[in-house]
Amino acid sequence: MSYDDTNIFAKILRGEIPNKTVYEDEYVLAFHDINPHAKCHVLVIPKGAYTDIYDFHANASVAEITGYARAMAKIIQMLELEKDGFRVIANMGDHGGQEVPHYHSHILGGEKLGQMVSKTS
Ligand code: 5GP
Repeated sequence: MSYDDTNIFAKILRGEIPNKTVYEDEYVLAFHDINPHAKCHVLVIPKGAYTDIYDFHANASVAEITGYARAMAKIIQMLELEKDGFRVIANMGDHGGQEVPHYHSHILGGEKLGQMVSKTS
């Protein structure tokens, strides 16, 4: 899938749409999800134009991947989630139910989250 720079997170990165920023550095922007699914629900997006987790892991530079990983740790610490735990989700494509075609991780926490996914049968 080619990257569509009209997606909502590309607009957020360009400052065309406001966001509640949690953390920002040269590699990532982290902000609160507009429709939270837990007490704490933060999205972490790379600044590079990657459509999804597969694209990012396959094509991002070592600096971008390392920058993203280190930023995740900083954000988890800022949100004070490392003691009680949390969940990270990256949806991809049709089966994953991805809505926004710019790679993002959901960080969910602040309460017990229950079952990871509902069983199909
Ligand atoms: P996905 O289903 O692609 O993994 O998740 C997309 C997430 O982006 C959803 O949880 C949705 O609530 C969030 N989202 C969509 N539009 C906006 C927006 O304009 N601002 C923010 N902060 N979050 C958004």
